[in-house]
Amino acid sequence: MTTKISRRSFFNRSLGLGAGALLIKTFPTFGFSKKVTIPMIVTSHTNQTGHNAMETGWEILLNGGSAIDAVEKAANIIEIDPEDASVGYGGIPNEHGVVQLDASIMDGKTYNAGSVACLENIKIPSSVARIVMERTDHVMLVGQGALDFAKKWGFREENLLTEKARKIWLRWKEGLSDRDDWGPPEHLKDKEDLESYWEGFPETEHHYGTTNVLAIDQNGDVAGITTTSGLGFKIPGRVGDSPIIGAGLYVDNEVGAAGATGRGEDVIKSCATFYIVMRMKEGRTPQEACEDALIMIVDKYKKVNPDFFPSEKFVAINKYGEFGCARMKGRGKPRMSVMNDKGYSKHEGTIAPQE
Ligand code: ASP
Repeated sequence: MTTKISRRSFFNRSLGLGAGALLIKTFPTFGFSKKVTIPMIVTSHTNQTGHNAMETGWEILLNGGSAIDAVEKAANIIEIDPEDASVGYGGIPNEHGVVQLDASIMDGKTYNAGSVACLENIKIPSSVARIVMERTDHVMLVGQGALDFAKKWGFREENLLTEKARKIWLRWKEGLSDRDDWGPPEHLKDKEDLESYWEGFPETEHHYGTTNVLAIDQNGDVAGITTTSGLGFKIPGRVGDSPIIGAGLYVDNEVGAAGATGRGEDVIKSCATFYIVMRMKEGRTPQEACEDALIMIVDKYKKVNPDFFPSEKFVAINKYGEFGCARMKGRGKPRMSVMNDKGYSKHEGTIAPQE
């Protein structure tokens, strides 16, 4: 059965409770009285671009716009930043020097999701994911199929490899092995100082980085995006957790949302964001639920390698406007950007398991 949502009813719904309204609401539907601070938008990014993204998303929410519009427009700000080597344009390429992007989007209101993986040449993969979600009966498109689809919808192909990312990749390539022919000629190898040749382009082994954007609008609807250039120097075709619903991103309109960054392989195996949202459904706060997921991952590895603590960081929000983030032990305290009725702030989360 198909349900048609007319343009008019979509427009009416997206108008929400009126332009410019700032609400501190109590939702009777939650079964008990709890103060709810909405709208709200958060991101795992805490740099200036992350801040700008929050301003953009907040403007939409404050004017009665939908959470899904807010997360898309906010994520786009981070995706097009050429200085950010972990997301969208300017991301670190795969081992062949090609930037391949992964992104997912989920709309709690419609229980709808879309994603793209290994998408090349398009700066804003989360917007392509949104069209997969809204204008197809599929959830995920990958590689050439995703690119063909994006072009049909008018997305322009562009070279995503910035000068900075190309040099980071070249340095990695030259440093990979002394048994290939990359790097200075053999008779000069011992004389050349690689450090000074590649000054400003630090040696990178495995480069992680992603962004999550999660929001609640004035109607109490929840949406989220996870977008990334994935693991730096990955094998071409590698898909991380970011475009996989339940791994890199999960949203439940009755509960909240969670997003993941870090070593995607663990996030996929543990269905981490689904787990976080289910923990929140059982009553855990976003902060506690993020910690629970990290502990769950460590427990899985205990028998195989008790010293293995992969690099995940999780962020989560619940329907009440509470938020939290946690990072795996060994990597310093995690932070996230939050924009709500109190303005913009950086929240410091916790480390789990405790050190
Ligand atoms: N989770 C991303 C991936 O595995 C990378 C990251 O967040 O650093 O593709």
